[in-house]
Amino acid sequence: TQGLTKSSKQMGDQIAQVFVAKAPLDQAKLDELEEMLIEADLGPHSAARITERFAAEKFGKDVDEREIREALSAAIGDELSGRQGEFDPLSGPRPYIVLFIGVNGSGKTTTLGKIATDLRRRGAKVLVVAGDTFRAAAVEQLKVWAERAGADFMGRPTGSDAAGLAFDAVQKARDEGYDVVLIDTAGRLQNKAGLMEELLKIIRVVKKIDPEAPHETLLVLDATVGRNALAQENIFGNQIGVSGIVMTKLDGTARGGVLVPVAQASDSPIKLVGVGEGVDDLQPFDARAFARTLVG
Ligand code: GDP
Repeated sequence: TQGLTKSSKQMGDQIAQVFVAKAPLDQAKLDELEEMLIEADLGPHSAARITERFAAEKFGKDVDEREIREALSAAIGDELSGRQGEFDPLSGPRPYIVLFIGVNGSGKTTTLGKIATDLRRRGAKVLVVAGDTFRAAAVEQLKVWAERAGADFMGRPTGSDAAGLAFDAVQKARDEGYDVVLIDTAGRLQNKAGLMEELLKIIRVVKKIDPEAPHETLLVLDATVGRNALAQENIFGNQIGVSGIVMTKLDGTARGGVLVPVAQASDSPIKLVGVGEGVDDLQPFDARAFARTLVG
């Protein structure tokens, strides 16, 4: 269901209000529909495209709530088609190096923990690396996730060089036959230039060991920040390079629609969605299922 309870309820209720009974689709109803899509954070461009497409099919015709939902779901699904990507570290080279980037609070640590757990369940040898060497609490939290997952953990005292840690971790993973290395990183935005430099340095040193690494750079975005997620995608996408997006907290917001403009703005596909705080609350992104759930 892609966890969209709140977004789904909001949009579902609104559709029900606008289209109370079967009636010809007129401009007033189209305007309300477009407004509703914008409110759900789909963004003005997607909202306009979806509404136009809808108008082309149905203007002047009798439509009821069910048809609206079906047409909307199809249109949103089309907007997202081709923007869905797969994440499977076990189908790639070994050790498979995954870098997690994103601002503090976006859900990096939690997402990494969920992935570590899944990989361990599938029998993989996993190394979790606390590359956010600035926040002691973040290191501790990650360690707890790693221990619970049964993954090995590597961290350093606060203030240590993150790139040095990443280098040693990848070296260790090579020497000791790990399948996957999951590297958490810092996400403090107070000093954006400093953070970008740090992330680029991690990538540079990891490439010294394996020129193909990192095999994945997952950008973790929090759906509850709505259209701010777009700005974050822009910064990290342009400055660091991203291979896939994880959209978290889709369970906790009525702004889940923001996934649509993010998917369209980004060069990289949406790969995973976070739908809760629990260990099993991470799902492969499914564009059609997402679209169906979003419209209530
Ligand atoms: P980080 O600073 O980027 O590492 O973020 P954390 O992983 O520490 O997550 C910040 C908060 O968001 C924590 O309280 C998590 O439990 C919570 N969180 C992460 N992912 C999800 C999600 O998909 N749904 C919900 N409801 N909460 C989430």
